[in-house]
Amino acid sequence: MKKSVVNKEYQNLNKTIVDLQEKWKNSLREEAVLPKVDKAALDAGVPVIALTDFHFDISLFLQWIEEVVEAIIASNGELAVKLDKLSDIMNEEVGLRWIQEALAFNQAYFTEFAEEKDLEEWIPSYFAETAVRPYLQLLAESVQDRIEYAVPDEGCPVCGEPVRLAALEEEGKKVVHCPRCLAHWQGKRLECDHCGNDDHQKLKFLTIEGDAISQIQVCEVCNGYMKVIDTRQYITKPSAAQIDLDTIHLDFVAQQNGYRAVGEKKITN
Ligand SMILES: [Zn+2]
Ligand SMILES: [Zn+2]
Repeated sequence: MKKSVVNKEYQNLNKTIVDLQEKWKNSLREEAVLPKVDKAALDAGVPVIALTDFHFDISLFLQWIEEVVEAIIASNGELAVKLDKLSDIMNEEVGLRWIQEALAFNQAYFTEFAEEKDLEEWIPSYFAETAVRPYLQLLAESVQDRIEYAVPDEGCPVCGEPVRLAALEEEGKKVVHCPRCLAHWQGKRLECDHCGNDDHQKLKFLTIEGDAISQIQVCEVCNGYMKVIDTRQYITKPSAAQIDLDTIHLDFVAQQNGYRAVGEKKITN
């Protein structure tokens, strides 16, 4: 597969939305997230989010959803018909529920909601997730200096998102980035970030035609994959959220080859 699968409009829209999220995060007060960082819990793979008190501003959340609707329609007018309905559906009660279900990764709720309200399936989960991220990003920012590593197979130590993206930084260091909350931590260059496999024979790297800075690390033990991007090649470094969206072609390639962003737990007895 070639890189051209990612078109310019898609990239520009992603950039607009990532910038909006950054702006929204900066507008939140520090007290919006009150985390308790517990070393024992972190070591056991419990993400910080599970021990955090959030103070959500629902009217702000609803306003952000409106801003995303506007950004998408500005980028692709044809989507107006599909999104207009959303504004009529949203209210404080729905907003609060969306926040809870997005934090709980409850995809089934969003699928059902879409069906019930006659919306395209991607719409509720996409908007809920987009508008909840500023809170997660504020949370990650406030605890970043306590996050040094992740427990294999437990996802992001801050928000619990499955890992899928790493950057090669100065001196070839591998830093794993969560594109959802933007937390980052040290990874090992030759280790699977899903299952901890460090048998070099069972780790492979897929490369992409026309894309010199990206590799996909795949693990033959758990079938998990990681996108590994050499960010030393960037003049201005985009955020992990932006890199994740701009490298969606790598996810396609990995998934077409039978790998997944979540490793499989092998049953051994
Ligand atoms: Zn995260
Ligand atoms: Zn693995």
